[in-house]
Amino acid sequence: MRQILLSVLLLLVPTAQQPPVEPLVRIGLTQNAATVTVRSAETFGVAGRMTRSATFAAVLAVDPNASGAVAAADLQYRITVKFDDDATVVMPAGTRVRIEPPAAPLGIDARAYRGALEIFGNTRHTLTVVNELPLEDYLRGVVPNELNPAAFGQLEALKAQAVAARTYIHRNMGQYKDEGYDICATDACQVYFGVLTEDPLATQAVMETRGVVATYDGWPINALYSSTCGGRTENAEHIFTEKAPYLVSVNCEHTHTQMAFATSRAVPNWKDGVLAVARVRNFSDAARFMGLPARGEPASTNAATLAAFIRRTFYPTVLTASDFSFVREQGILTAGEAVPRRELLFRLIEKKSAFEWQQGVLESFDARERRMRLLAGGQLKEFSLAPNALMYQRIGDSRLPLRKGVWIGGELVDFRAEEGMITMLIYRINFANRAADRYSRLALWQVHKTKAELDTAFRSLAIGEFTDMRVIQRGLSERLINTEIVGTTGRRTVPALRLRTLLSLRDSLFSYDVERNAAGTVVGASFFGRGWGHGVGMCQVGAYGMALAGATYEEILKKYYTGIELQKVY
Ligand SMILES: [Zn+2]
Repeated sequence: MRQILLSVLLLLVPTAQQPPVEPLVRIGLTQNAATVTVRSAETFGVAGRMTRSATFAAVLAVDPNASGAVAAADLQYRITVKFDDDATVVMPAGTRVRIEPPAAPLGIDARAYRGALEIFGNTRHTLTVVNELPLEDYLRGVVPNELNPAAFGQLEALKAQAVAARTYIHRNMGQYKDEGYDICATDACQVYFGVLTEDPLATQAVMETRGVVATYDGWPINALYSSTCGGRTENAEHIFTEKAPYLVSVNCEHTHTQMAFATSRAVPNWKDGVLAVARVRNFSDAARFMGLPARGEPASTNAATLAAFIRRTFYPTVLTASDFSFVREQGILTAGEAVPRRELLFRLIEKKSAFEWQQGVLESFDARERRMRLLAGGQLKEFSLAPNALMYQRIGDSRLPLRKGVWIGGELVDFRAEEGMITMLIYRINFANRAADRYSRLALWQVHKTKAELDTAFRSLAIGEFTDMRVIQRGLSERLINTEIVGTTGRRTVPALRLRTLLSLRDSLFSYDVERNAAGTVVGASFFGRGWGHGVGMCQVGAYGMALAGATYEEILKKYYTGIELQKVY
């Protein structure tokens, strides 16, 4: 056992021969600066001189005798340094300037850094600036920038963030080796802003988890995290290309145990579902369902005949001069529209309120007994859930059929019950009340785009003018994994991250409404979304919610990263 543990530890430290010690990390602060000014309250040494400021520039060094054509490869660049006494020196070609840390941090622009700085020219003839410092010091400048302690000041959440950030750097150490550093300082890696952004609570979180990383099968995990998952995280392979056993969809909820529910039956279209539950296949069935005498089927689909038939069969007591006007006022038929029979039957049932929808708030669900407690009409009522009940989740205007899912509790439910048994239900997920990430104002968002904005957004797809979009695949979190964008000259299937980027949306978890004018032409679209970020791995605001509810950082990490272990590597 000890042998195994030791070999695991050795895999995690930079060099297998060394005892487990805190590594140094090299952070690429910039890689395309024309000039860089380093300042400090204390003097520091550059090229054998002591100074409080040094301005570096990459300049083209031309031989005074040179003239005529020159190959780009023959151009010589040098670094010049201007000191606080205005003296300027030219460094030999290929110099890497290293500034050892003085007693005060080294500042660049409005930021300051612990540890050493290195400045050198790169192949683009600009300056690369690298900050080298112990890993734990680096984390002090990361954690408060990745999870803001001012808004989300829970120690256990910040500790979970510290472990995720530490694991990320362990796994990605050396990713930018060719550029002369380990990792970048932006959100392409992890946001690192240095010492001025440090925060006492975040620093405490880093110190209390010193050396702890999350592992799966003994290896540091790809500790992805995003701001607000919007109720449920997503499988890694649905958003990125790679699959990971620990990056699987989980419910972003803590205080309630998960309650699975399932049904033996699913009908893709919810309107067909209503007809199926009502056992309505034709007009005779519909009349029977409403307790009216059946009058067979209409003689023809001609609008006048149909209107007369519908008025007589379903509104027998109504007196009207024009059956058609009446049926149109009811919203059952419209002028010039050929309404399919199923749609007509559905409209009749809805207009006559014949389905007897009830509305309630889900209080609890006992999966074993299939008993559901709902707060309906101010009373707590208990129902059983039919084994073949039709179930849908409502997102915006769509209703997605479900065979299996998980309740959080507190959902708004529209349902039909027959003798105490629920035969159909449509619910809205209640992330707003119970989800651990409900504290984020980004949990819910809405964006409107005009037709022109949509055409601009989709220009790179080369499909002409935007005419429609269609969800091909949704993930377990309901994120749009694949969406078909339809235009006047073509159609393209667009994966989650690409679509989110094209539309500049916060997350790929949304429903939408394509708006059309009376002629059916697209005039714009609304997007109703939840969450912020890619939605894979730890939900940061959810971590805060869990911490508020009393969870430890280990519980938080093990919730969002399935099957992981925590290991102290130094
Ligand atoms: Zn979440």
